[in-house]
Amino acid sequence: MKAIRKFTVRTVVPEALAALDELAGNLRWSWHEPTRQLFEHISPELWREIGTDPVALLGAVDPARLVALAADHDYVSWVNSIRDGLRSYLQEPRWYQGLEGDKPESIAYFSPEFGIAAALPQYSGGLGILAGDHLKSASDLGVPLIGVGLFYRAGYFSQAISPDGWQIESYPLLDPDGLPLSVLRRADGSAVQVSLALPDNRTLHARVWQANVGRIRLLMLDTDIPENTDDLRLVTDRLYGGGGEHRLLQELLLGIGGARAVKVWSALNNRPEPEVFHTNEGHAGFLGLERISSLIGDGLSFAEALQVARAGTVFTTHTPVAAGIDRFERSLVRRYFETDLLPGVGVDELLALGAENYPGGSPDVFNMALMGLRLGQRANGVSKLHGEVSRRMFKGLWPGFDAEDVPIDSITNGVHAPTWTDPSLLHLAEDRLGTSDTSEADWASPAITDDDLWSVRGTMRLQFVEDARRRIAAAWLVQNPGGIVPGWIGQVFDPKVLTIGFARRVPTYKRLTLMLHDPERLRALLLHPEHPIQIVIAGKSHPADEEGKRLIQKVVQFAADPELRTRIAFLPDYNIGMAQLMYPGTDVWLNNPLRPLEACGTSGMKAALNGALNLSILDGWWPEYYDGKNGWAIPSADAAGDSAERDRIEADALYELIEHHVAPRFYDRNADGVPERWVASIRHTLATLSPELNAGRMVRQYVQKLYRPAGAAEARLSANNYRAARELAVWKGRIVAKWPGVSVAHVESGGVAAVPKVGDELHLRAHVQLNGLDPADVTVEVVYGKSLANDELSGVHTLALEAVVDPDAADGSDTPEQGGATLFTGTVALDRGGAFGYTVRVVPKNDLLVSSAEMGLIAVAG
Ligand SMILES: *Cc1c(COP(=O)(O)O)cnc(C)c1O
Repeated sequence: MKAIRKFTVRTVVPEALAALDELAGNLRWSWHEPTRQLFEHISPELWREIGTDPVALLGAVDPARLVALAADHDYVSWVNSIRDGLRSYLQEPRWYQGLEGDKPESIAYFSPEFGIAAALPQYSGGLGILAGDHLKSASDLGVPLIGVGLFYRAGYFSQAISPDGWQIESYPLLDPDGLPLSVLRRADGSAVQVSLALPDNRTLHARVWQANVGRIRLLMLDTDIPENTDDLRLVTDRLYGGGGEHRLLQELLLGIGGARAVKVWSALNNRPEPEVFHTNEGHAGFLGLERISSLIGDGLSFAEALQVARAGTVFTTHTPVAAGIDRFERSLVRRYFETDLLPGVGVDELLALGAENYPGGSPDVFNMALMGLRLGQRANGVSKLHGEVSRRMFKGLWPGFDAEDVPIDSITNGVHAPTWTDPSLLHLAEDRLGTSDTSEADWASPAITDDDLWSVRGTMRLQFVEDARRRIAAAWLVQNPGGIVPGWIGQVFDPKVLTIGFARRVPTYKRLTLMLHDPERLRALLLHPEHPIQIVIAGKSHPADEEGKRLIQKVVQFAADPELRTRIAFLPDYNIGMAQLMYPGTDVWLNNPLRPLEACGTSGMKAALNGALNLSILDGWWPEYYDGKNGWAIPSADAAGDSAERDRIEADALYELIEHHVAPRFYDRNADGVPERWVASIRHTLATLSPELNAGRMVRQYVQKLYRPAGAAEARLSANNYRAARELAVWKGRIVAKWPGVSVAHVESGGVAAVPKVGDELHLRAHVQLNGLDPADVTVEVVYGKSLANDELSGVHTLALEAVVDPDAADGSDTPEQGGATLFTGTVALDRGGAFGYTVRVVPKNDLLVSSAEMGLIAVAG
């Protein structure tokens, strides 16, 4: 029998324990170990069974237990002291409050998914977990962020595996009343609704859920309400569910609806509206259009409004994989915007923002990443390497510029240490080093002995092995209902054996099955008589990705071999709960993507924070942090002839490393059974990587490099009724109109001898045709460096040339003209020997531009 309707009856918590409700209502419990212990104490078995979720625990616990605890003075005062701790955490000044100078009072952070806790499954993978970690760290640092997302009724799917190894998806519905969420309401109690005009005079309505993530409010829009027609109720049915139009509706709701929801929330809470809008990947990009529409409502033109919206928008790109970028049919986008959806915004101006108008682009698509770059004056990738890759990938938007000039910066991702560090390691740090802040702990200190570290690693490995067995037994029962769990499942994994972890989404580039390249070789490593390894694998394939499902099947079938099944296993339904035990429980975290397709990768960071060593291709974050002592680099065969060849070479390198380096070191023990060299690497990993990989470092960089400058730029453009924005729009219009006539007419040089030598000075005189622009509108610069065989310059430097002012010029202009050209001069010191080359270029100059490449306009000599 199926229920036609479901709801959650909340338990009435005894008065003396009212603080439990307050604590359960703020998701800080998901990373605050003392709060978790408080709830666990109510019923340790239930706590684990229910997936460490306070709201569910309070709903399921026997009320008599709560009555008994209410009479327990010690417990009541424990509860109250933790509650007081939460209240001061929410109010006390933190890092951001101590920053000197201008800083935004409110920053909106938009993301299609948020992975905050296992109890709130609103994420599919890395992007969502990162967004969750961003909010949590912003909370810890006191950054005034507000999160904006969607509430998906079924979240992402749950994964089961059929007996023949095929992924089976199911979509359990979430009941928001059973989650730590509340509906956003007005003072009179009525629920706030956000509405979007749709084609054919239809309207999409959404209510707004709010979650408290420490100090941060997260707003989540939900269309499953009676005001919508049945089809529109399904807009937020699931994460990344449908294609084309369904996806477009979700993104319209996220961007436009989300911006409207923030506005209402700010007004209801007497908070200023955000000055800075951060879009985590392109999916939320329509928010910029909503802001433009609203500024047009204030009397600005489209071009003027665009300047303001751009200044305050930060865009983070997360993927170098084309399939990871949303592209909609242009005609579909047109149909949705030829409505009252965005008053004042012309459809053609809007479509131009997503146009792929460069060689190789498609005229029929609307590209969300390009709109993100055009609507965000500041953009970044998520590791140094990904920054480089993105600059190359999006170079077409800045024609004429070298990839290095493309205005996309990078901030390397981080992970929220309190969420991802195992409590046993936290306790060790607290106990011996006096801090639970692992990024500040002095891991090199002798206060922690090798024995301590090794024994805590053993505890974490054992705890994971037990969890894995439980999961495998549960999965077996799903496949064999009513059966008796076979004995071998109790033998899966050995808590003493070198444990390698590999878990991630299963797109092809992550190469789930690289380790299976030579099955016999892998088998030998698993069954090695002295140095055996064991491997745990997990990951979900996108439901539409048949290839990904085939990869999972290959792994499951390999692992079904009776000889191997206690050494290698696939754990179904990878999620936060599993991950929190898996990262600490593995000795080595394996990552073997096709370089450079992994933008950053964060699972290896989470493993490192627990003292696991990384074994990875030099992709994503690893080339930045691999130092020879914190793990191993799998060499990548970028130059291999074809992908099969490449897989073979890289798989061989992986086997070699495991066989000759990783396993021997793990089993190289001293008299006490401690692998000293291995423990030294653990210590080194914790000491050097904890400060770097934690999301606090990342969020501080976002604040300093992006949010503050964006806030300042937005304020400057908006002051005095948007005076600077209006001027900037006029100025840009003039530059764009005149630019086709701007050129470097002629460059003369002097000062160097026939055979130039180090110490000589190169005097340059560049005659530039400005086509009526003022010398102050442009930078004329010499670009110089080492000249390579193909005339390309490397190790490039630039030096701005000065316009020559001639007070005697008769025609009233203040520069000497030569055939209508303006003279710019400067001197380059030749301070290095070798092949030298230079050129001269002209780019627009305005101190409201972040980069001189920003407008994509350039004129180069020759
Ligand atoms: C960290 C994490 C991811 C992302 O891992 P990558 O290394 O970035 O692929 C995905 N899923 C879960 C549950 C995670 O915790």
